[in-house]
Amino acid sequence: MPEIRKRRLGRTGFMVTEIGLGGIPLMRVEDFDEAARLISYALDQGINYIDTARAYGDSEEKIGLVMKDRRDEVFLATKTNAYDYDTAWQYLETSLKNLQTDHLDLWQMHDISTEQRWEEIWSAQGAMKAAHEAREQGLVRYFGVSGHNDALLLRAVECGEFDVILGVYNLGIHSLGEQVIPAAQQHDIGVAVMKPLSGGLFFRRKETFIDPMKAWYFVLQNTGISVALVGFQNQRDIDQAIQASATFTPLSEDEIEQLVAKARFLGDDVCRDCGYCKEECPAGIDIPKIMHMFDEARVFSYEWPRFRRLYAELEIKGDACQDCGKCEEKCPFDLKIRERLKWVHDRFNQPI
Ligand code: SF4
Ligand code: SF4
Repeated sequence: MPEIRKRRLGRTGFMVTEIGLGGIPLMRVEDFDEAARLISYALDQGINYIDTARAYGDSEEKIGLVMKDRRDEVFLATKTNAYDYDTAWQYLETSLKNLQTDHLDLWQMHDISTEQRWEEIWSAQGAMKAAHEAREQGLVRYFGVSGHNDALLLRAVECGEFDVILGVYNLGIHSLGEQVIPAAQQHDIGVAVMKPLSGGLFFRRKETFIDPMKAWYFVLQNTGISVALVGFQNQRDIDQAIQASATFTPLSEDEIEQLVAKARFLGDDVCRDCGYCKEECPAGIDIPKIMHMFDEARVFSYEWPRFRRLYAELEIKGDACQDCGKCEEKCPFDLKIRERLKWVHDRFNQPI
């Protein structure tokens, strides 16, 4: 296997592999031993950055199975989605226990995408108070923040409190490269990026297919990025990412322009399959699956008969929605999930 190139993670000074393991898809690997094998395989190939979150179901526990023996090999990052002091402390203790470690390399404030959340973490009884105490006690080495709001990520860079920021960067969504990444370089802040392959969106359909290597090269070409996190659900995903690092070839400006135009055709307003919404739904609706139908149905209207068949097979359909809105609070891309569920139900809940 080729060696993965390393980059400096800003002022932490840590040399991280430019490909890191993201924890979300581990939720979908049902068998714990299988998940542990996959994580071990990534480490065997040299990957030395693991990122997860308290919000990612049982992914911390799965990673913990490997960390109990191989903690020294990685830069270990998780996140808290509790923003008040007391709950953030509880979450930190749970994360450490789940990950089977006595310290985190990076503790991130998860999805700080609204002013209200930013205010909350910095309030007198906010999560950042817990973060400072945890660092004094040696439980956390560095602070990070993740989010989908460039202005707040820029603020996080400039405030000087955070060592690493985490945002979205791929062919379809790359505004992070305009101000935030250059500012992070200037302040020597590490930059981790998520969704480099847009959750597989680029490869979902042959009509809109983008070569995965090209999608990777676009991300790797930005030297201000320290590490690109990709969720691995199988060995093939890991091998593909490593191959991209090994074969990296800069894209020409023309090529970038064409690829970006193609990705734009897919639109910003599409489900990225992150799965945050699904965890929340009291009705048990497989929201991402229905969101995919919505996205594809808008582009491929000639396929509506197929969508009707697929929709008929769903045990729980969109009309089970209780209108609680929890899914929309969680969706990092602000998708109007309830409207979309209704749109799909109205069109596809028809006799086949
Ligand atoms: S609004 Fe509907 S789809 Fe969304 S979480 Fe609530 S019940 Fe589920
Ligand atoms: S609807 Fe939003 S939260 Fe749910 S999987 Fe898609 S992008 Fe993620």
